[in-house]
Amino acid sequence: MTDYKDISSAVVHGGIYGDKTTGAVNVPIYQTSTYEQKGLGENTGWEYSRTGNPTRAALEALIAELENGTAGFAFASGLAAITAVLMLFKSGDRILISSNVYGGTFRVLDKVFKQFGLSYSIEDTTDIETFESKITPDVKAVLIESPANPLLTVTDLAGISGISKKKGILTIVDNTFMTPYLQRPLELGADIVVHSATKYLGGHSDLVAGLAVVKDEKIAERLAFLQNATGGVLGPFDSFLLIRGIKTLAIRMDRHVANAEKIALFLQQNEAVKTVYYPALPDAQGYAVNKKQAKNGGAMISFELKDNYDIKTFFKSVRLIALAESLGGVESLVCHPATMTHASIPRDIRQKIGITDGLIRLSVGIENADDLTADLEQAFQKSRIGK
Ligand SMILES: *Cc1c(COP(=O)(O)O)cnc(C)c1O
Repeated sequence: MTDYKDISSAVVHGGIYGDKTTGAVNVPIYQTSTYEQKGLGENTGWEYSRTGNPTRAALEALIAELENGTAGFAFASGLAAITAVLMLFKSGDRILISSNVYGGTFRVLDKVFKQFGLSYSIEDTTDIETFESKITPDVKAVLIESPANPLLTVTDLAGISGISKKKGILTIVDNTFMTPYLQRPLELGADIVVHSATKYLGGHSDLVAGLAVVKDEKIAERLAFLQNATGGVLGPFDSFLLIRGIKTLAIRMDRHVANAEKIALFLQQNEAVKTVYYPALPDAQGYAVNKKQAKNGGAMISFELKDNYDIKTFFKSVRLIALAESLGGVESLVCHPATMTHASIPRDIRQKIGITDGLIRLSVGIENADDLTADLEQAFQKSRIGK
């Protein structure tokens, strides 16, 4: 019964819109833990807010609609969402993860799930044939990001999903970097989408949240069970904030991406810069695949400075752009993957997968693009050794 065709309308009107009892255009914050029951066994459909809360339910319906899935689930963080999804598996199972997967995802598999007998292997998912050859009988799922953190490595989501289906394993896609506005993995054949909604979906660097969306009703039932059984749910106020953030997702992403496209070209032409990683540059790894499966290249860029530039000075010199972990907020942020986001990956593995000590990751915000390039330029000049 939707009155719109485009996702830019769905972000505003999707899921459960407003409040039927008062006509309020926003879903109220149901700040309650419990609900009065009329008599034994007679409830209103709501019993206890770990199991279900109307504000969280509105958010869950919204993300399910945006990702074109059957059910959505909201968690206290992206890692809580990923953890709940990983709990669908059991001791003896193995999960394949793409190299360059988010550091925290690696850490929870390596330091937590391994203790319970769920194993993992890191594979290059950009090569479909190699991927297929790694699916041993104990492999039950593949977990991928595209573009992946922080080298913006692109994986063919339809290709991987097709092989996974043939082999009877699940495809899980962390869609944090793209959001459903730019890429919808379930439409490309994936089974489960997870998000760190802390990033673009929230969009304002003011909350930590995670979301999961599934297509299959049986998996939805199991994930609902796990969400309630293990309890890492998102609270009503943060659910409200996230709904509010998602309403402007389309216009924010348009601006993020327009800025990123300008900055990628600026970096590519800048004498301080050795390498630029951005999926929408024609010579980028996976350019054609990304073009096929996503609306554009997103707004994350990584780059390396030339050897005669000092990276520590660069990070000290940026002024408008803040040095911080995280990404996807309205403000531009830079970080140093080797010591920040990917510090939990051992150095030898880091080097092997291309996360060098000189790599800089930039989350392009919605400021004026010329102000951003001016800030980068003055920081480059200050960082030049022996000027
Ligand atoms: C930040 C991030 C996560 C973890 O999410 P939190 O909300 O910080 O728990 C997972 N995946 C990706 C790609 C991320 O960027």
